[in-house]
Amino acid sequence: MNMVTTEEERKIFHFLKSQGCCLRCCFRFIGYRTSECYYKPSEFAAQLSYADIKDDASMEETTCIACLGVLQDKEQKNVITKIAEKVKEKDYDCMTFTCALTVPVSVKLREHILYAYMSKEIDIHKSILSTLKTKLQNVKDIWKSFIIPQLEQATGKHADLSTPSPFLIEIFLMYADDEMIFKELINEHKGGNNKKQKKRKYNDNKFSRKNVDSLLIEMTDEQLMRHFMISQIIPKTFVHVDDVLCSHSSIFIGGRYNKLSRKLSQTPWLINGEKKVETSVQDLLCNPIAEMVKAESIKFLSSGREDVDVRNIYGGRPFAIELLNPRMTNITNELLMCLTSSINQSTKQVQITSNLKVLSRFDLKKLKEGENIKTKFYRALCVCRDVNGSLPPLEHLNELENVKIIQRTPLRVLHRRPLSPRTRIIYKMRARWAKPHELKELLSTAAESTDAFFVLDVKTQAGTYVKEFVHGDFGRTKPSLCDFLNNEVDIVALDVTGINLKWP
Ligand SMILES: [Zn+2]
Repeated sequence: MNMVTTEEERKIFHFLKSQGCCLRCCFRFIGYRTSECYYKPSEFAAQLSYADIKDDASMEETTCIACLGVLQDKEQKNVITKIAEKVKEKDYDCMTFTCALTVPVSVKLREHILYAYMSKEIDIHKSILSTLKTKLQNVKDIWKSFIIPQLEQATGKHADLSTPSPFLIEIFLMYADDEMIFKELINEHKGGNNKKQKKRKYNDNKFSRKNVDSLLIEMTDEQLMRHFMISQIIPKTFVHVDDVLCSHSSIFIGGRYNKLSRKLSQTPWLINGEKKVETSVQDLLCNPIAEMVKAESIKFLSSGREDVDVRNIYGGRPFAIELLNPRMTNITNELLMCLTSSINQSTKQVQITSNLKVLSRFDLKKLKEGENIKTKFYRALCVCRDVNGSLPPLEHLNELENVKIIQRTPLRVLHRRPLSPRTRIIYKMRARWAKPHELKELLSTAAESTDAFFVLDVKTQAGTYVKEFVHGDFGRTKPSLCDFLNNEVDIVALDVTGINLKWP
């Protein structure tokens, strides 16, 4: 690589300055990397006797032709104020931040135009110029180097440069005349006789970063200069803040729940965005948590789900909530305990049965894996129809072990997923006649005298359709309890009684 001499640097500096570049841009075109030249550029320039400090005040009044004010202190004071206001308004409790800057599309084009004129107007060797091009410092990096300390002061938050903060501030700086100045160039370039370009999509003539990039690859310096004299790209105003967006990466909270209602769906039932049922497991569990951490939205994740009429009792089902863009992230165990008790007091339909815990992404993998747990436990209240005094014996059910059954897709889910018949294993069963109080809980109408109710505890392979195993589903599940008891058996109620997963 060719060394650029001090004399050449001086020439370039003065050329750029005379064309209307700010001091920081002059330095970045030369390829300076030291932070002090960007921190206090006028003092640095004076030290090198490149420029008089007095000049600087007047330079700040005019917009830089290259960065449009992105690297000019006077303009950036306003930007910092706007960012700090937005951050304060949004009220995120995260003590660190990362920031991302979007600069006007034309900045890159302007750099190229300046290079083109630099090579034409300064007596400097082509190889030196290409060396310089590789040394050009990125506007965004320079911006961050002198803005971040000021942003830290203005927001009271710390920019952690070693690990990216989960709290992101995105700043969009725009230049109002960008499109007006460069539109013709883009249009004309699009109309070129390159056939490949004609196939491009309809947003062809948009003044986008992508279009500028491809244009710069295809255009020569001479073509660029034919389009623009430097006087034509002199900016009249500074960049403005188009938007400041704040966001925090998701946090996850997990636990286990019991579902104690037989009229509750797991997720809200929406038709055209309108709620068709009053509430759901998801609403009851997630809404209070989302409210507490001031999340923008949530995703409810659980290891499987219950049907609307199925309860989940005892240990409870593992679940997790993804809280998207939460503003409160300092979540203590005390806070989670308060939350648990307030959720449990607010409803009888759902109860949290474990501690709530803030989860890592690694924990979440376990929840996914939990869906493939090999065994599940259920309790079913079943009924033998028309027994007329002679009860069928239940004891022999208790002796059966590892019964293979074949299930064709149940009629009730046939419309969703017609699959080929599958084999499942019923590992164990325990059956006993139901006690009167168990019936009172479950049946609102008095049981008919010819019916005999019994309770079946069953340990099955995951994915077994338990309801169908009980009633046989018109012969679609074979064998079923009807076959074992040689009776017409129906299911009255079903509970999930155990999901083996170490969670949360
Ligand atoms: Zn500049």
